[in-house]
Amino acid sequence: MPAAPEPFDELMTHARETRVVVVGGGIAGLVAAWECAKVGMPVTVLEASDALGGTIATAEVAGIRVDVGASCWTAGGVVRELVDELGLGDRVVTPVDDRTWIAGLAKGAAAPVPRESVLGIPANPWDESVRPFIGWSGAWRAYLDRLRPPLTIGKELNLGRLVRSRMGDAVLERMVAPLSLGRFGVSPYRVDVSAAAPGLSSALTRTGSLGGAVADLLVGREGGGVESLDGGLAPLVDALVARLAELGAVVSTGVRVTGIERDDTGWRALDGHEVVAAADILVIATGPQDAAALLAPHAGTAVTVMTDASPRRDVVTLVVDAPALNASPRGGQVYPVPGPIRTSGVVHATARWSWLAQAAGPGRHVLNVAFDRPSAPVESRWRELDDDGTAAASLPPDGAALAEIARAEASALLGVPLGADAVRGWHRAGFDLPRPASARGHDDHATAVRTSVAKLPGLAAVGAWLSGSGLAQVVADARDEAERVRRAALWASSAPD
Ligand SMILES: Cc1cc2nc3c(=O)[nH]c(=O)nc-3n(C[C@H](O)[C@H](O)[C@H](O)COP(=O)(O)OP(=O)(O)OC[C@H]3O[C@@H](n4cnc5c(N)ncnc54)[C@H](O)[C@@H]3O)c2cc1C
Repeated sequence: MPAAPEPFDELMTHARETRVVVVGGGIAGLVAAWECAKVGMPVTVLEASDALGGTIATAEVAGIRVDVGASCWTAGGVVRELVDELGLGDRVVTPVDDRTWIAGLAKGAAAPVPRESVLGIPANPWDESVRPFIGWSGAWRAYLDRLRPPLTIGKELNLGRLVRSRMGDAVLERMVAPLSLGRFGVSPYRVDVSAAAPGLSSALTRTGSLGGAVADLLVGREGGGVESLDGGLAPLVDALVARLAELGAVVSTGVRVTGIERDDTGWRALDGHEVVAAADILVIATGPQDAAALLAPHAGTAVTVMTDASPRRDVVTLVVDAPALNASPRGGQVYPVPGPIRTSGVVHATARWSWLAQAAGPGRHVLNVAFDRPSAPVESRWRELDDDGTAAASLPPDGAALAEIARAEASALLGVPLGADAVRGWHRAGFDLPRPASARGHDDHATAVRTSVAKLPGLAAVGAWLSGSGLAQVVADARDEAERVRRAALWASSAPD
């Protein structure tokens, strides 16, 4: 009589019979796919566009291959683990210059974000590095923070309201709002202090002032930098795709899934009425709009609440001949004080990455200029965003016209003349701009979505709209969610006793 199969063999067999379909080939989808392929599950990735990586995107501009979307990750953490696991550890690089400047201050001035600050909130408003932002009168107003009873505002978790009430409008508008809008496309009024700066709130109670709380938080603070790869983030996507191929996964581009359905035999991904793939585990890894369309019929309205009015970010990448930029006059990135400038910020990519500066050659520079939609009327962009960000976009649909605005505004933000004749090439790309995990209400909404999704056997949802927008959040969440659904599928019918 043949011996009874080992539980382990049974699990392996079961894994081999568990069909996984991942809809969306951005970083979230690729990581989830890899997690499932690793244990022997047959995996199919369906990507709507003709390229994998989603917001990790590259383009060739004036002969240089350059990141036009995401370009780095918060140093260390899960992304670094992933990079090491993929054998890319020896390609990790750190920025040459990663200072952040804010432009559009009084009389058109610009200044670097003070070192002693958190989210743009200064530890000491009298510090010389703070004065270019708020002047003497702003410093006096901010100093009131030290004199006011700490608990007059209670436990204020709305970043905009907290900063405004403690330190005044100047700190909020000229130091905090440019960073919040420039980095994440959200008004400070939409940011939850406890998620954006863990510990700040309790330090405020302890120290008696917001400035004191910032100083407290800065004690012993290390790192906080970013990392990338020699050659940008494309090698990360390429390595993931290569690993998937080694494990026999099928990765198809140009396949847009328009619906999903489920019966006793499992899930099906549809294009119109046509079934494009059948699955035991279905992972939705698209951007917010498609996730809402695909999931809402099954998981209810929690998804649509979360993905409603999800903004977009257009990035114009310019390659310019401008030797005046060689000295990186405004660090690695510049964000404007909300005002007449339409861009949300300029990343001076060749100032940050030496591999890119080398590829560009002497005197040639790469600038990523971001524009957010829906954007409110420019004069009061961040105030309007507080009123729900519903104002119509005012960006020209024509790429050349937007590139022209990008050139003029990059010139203003960087404080360097950039004539039209300096432009060697440009490229425009558009992306979803999911909110950061620190956006107010994000956690509650995400929990509601996860609860509804988890009720449907074999269904998983990953991606920045659910995890929060940073690559660290996206990768960690995709791993966890893949593990959850993978474990549930394997143990449901093959649990070893
Ligand atoms: C301009 C920009 C710069 C950023 N820079 C950084 C950075 O430097 N560092 C950082 O940590 N974070 C950065 N972020 C955030 C981070 O890049 C994103 O949060 C992350 O890449 C999103 O990954 P994702 O897989 O969730 O979504 P996406 O990258 O949007 O991928 C979703 C994929 O699903 C596909 N898809 C959509 N609908 C369907 C469908 N119906 N059928 C099939 N496929 C579909 C899409 O084509 C896309 O490929 C940036 C974001 C933006 C917008």
